[in-house]
Amino acid sequence: TGIDADGIRSAFIDHLARRGHAVIPRASLVPDDDPTTLFTGSGMQPLVPYLLGADHPAGARLVDSQTCLRVQDIEEVGDNRHTTFFEMLGSWSLGDYFKDVQLRQFWEFLTATVGLDPARIHVSCFIGDEPHGIPKDEESAALWTELFTAAGVDAGQVDLDTEEHAAQVGTGGARIVFYGAKNWWCREGAAERMPVGEPGGPDTEVFYLFPHVEHDPAYGLHCHPNCDCGRFIELGNSVFMEYRRTETGFEPLPRRNVDYGGGLERIAAAAIDSPDVFRISLLWPIVERLEALSGRIYEDETLAMRVIADHLRGATFLAVDGVRPSNKAQGYVLRRLVRRAVRFAVDLGIEDNFFPHVVTTVAATYASAYPEVAAAADDVVDVLAREEQVFRRTLRRGLERLESHRGSVVTGADLFALHDTYGFPIELSTEVAGAEGIAVSDTWRTEFDDHMAAQRARSRAATRESG
Ligand code: ATP
Ligand code: MG
Ligand code: MG
Ligand code: MG
Repeated sequence: TGIDADGIRSAFIDHLARRGHAVIPRASLVPDDDPTTLFTGSGMQPLVPYLLGADHPAGARLVDSQTCLRVQDIEEVGDNRHTTFFEMLGSWSLGDYFKDVQLRQFWEFLTATVGLDPARIHVSCFIGDEPHGIPKDEESAALWTELFTAAGVDAGQVDLDTEEHAAQVGTGGARIVFYGAKNWWCREGAAERMPVGEPGGPDTEVFYLFPHVEHDPAYGLHCHPNCDCGRFIELGNSVFMEYRRTETGFEPLPRRNVDYGGGLERIAAAAIDSPDVFRISLLWPIVERLEALSGRIYEDETLAMRVIADHLRGATFLAVDGVRPSNKAQGYVLRRLVRRAVRFAVDLGIEDNFFPHVVTTVAATYASAYPEVAAAADDVVDVLAREEQVFRRTLRRGLERLESHRGSVVTGADLFALHDTYGFPIELSTEVAGAEGIAVSDTWRTEFDDHMAAQRARSRAATRESG
């Protein structure tokens, strides 16, 4: 249908607003009043109190697009589908409609609005948990079967507990795959850790198959929707909160909720039939900027350009949401993103002071969806460009220092000195050493931690004396 990411975001919101959902604004990347987590990492997160029973002022049907940051995915950045910053399209039913309405809505959006090919859609459902008395989610599977069948596609079902079963997936039939714990949602992550009274429920996920991406046997003998090779891309999932933990098992919840979350970037990639999210309208302009700045092409420098594009887009949004570089909490993550981007930029031969170009591109890309980015762009450029300049100097000195260890082994004490004197984030030192082929001692972690602890003790003592 030629729809781009901005089009998908607004079509999703319109699609649900027409079905009685109140449109709520994105929450900040920095959650307020939540000391347990640094960032908003899903659309569900700011809504947890309402999923647990509080009344939402906007009503029982909600829709939004939530900006998210997942530092836990930083190592994944460089693959075709994970970024630290992304947008999650979300919709909720708080004690209102349930599986039937939601799955039809989800399907119609993907096939009719976005124009995806129903034959390439695969879904996963919860296989059930006998010891806890939780049934298999046949209800979702039956709805999916009906939707596939109406589109003229064989649904087919398979319980995925063996490699043999995996061999049937992606070969025509078996588009509905039942998995175990992966498809059970609860706040504790696993049914056995749930306290009495805690809600949970099955999760059903939608994947899109890119048949031209070859399965990588490093990830298993056969490919299947949850395989990490990148042939299947998870587009979104619906959690059906319908059970509550009891002393002996589970009972139905009196008020059932639906939590739907879908990745905007991934849906936009599927819409242009690209297994690479960096090809979409929200990321490709950044890549083109990097190509122009470096004189290199994306095909040759895919990893570096993916990392820089992701990290600087995320850093820009963090700065827009008020985060400033520092040595702790959110500020440290911002610093880490910026510094990692600089390091990859140096590898690409990109000259000093390139952040302003990238921030300007990000602001232009989000001009209509998030005008606050353009409004804050001057400040963001100041903050990030300063950080870039300082770190370029640091990096030069740090690299010389690391280089001086070539031929010997870098110890935890050396890494501490780099951290302490040059402000070199520890993850960066080990990453650079790895990339440069400089050996690091096996025990660096404990040595480094000991030095950090000693330094903290010294500074506590100093504070006590001065206080
Ligand atoms: P994956 O298995 O691919 O890591 P997930 O199961 O961790 O995804 P969820 O927590 O279910 O993701 O989040 C809902 C949706 O958000 C996913 O279906 C996906 O489309 C999108 N999403 C999750 N993580 C990322 C990421 N790092 N980058 C881009 N999109 C993401
Ligand atoms: Mg994940
Ligand atoms: Mg997943
Ligand atoms: Mg998921």
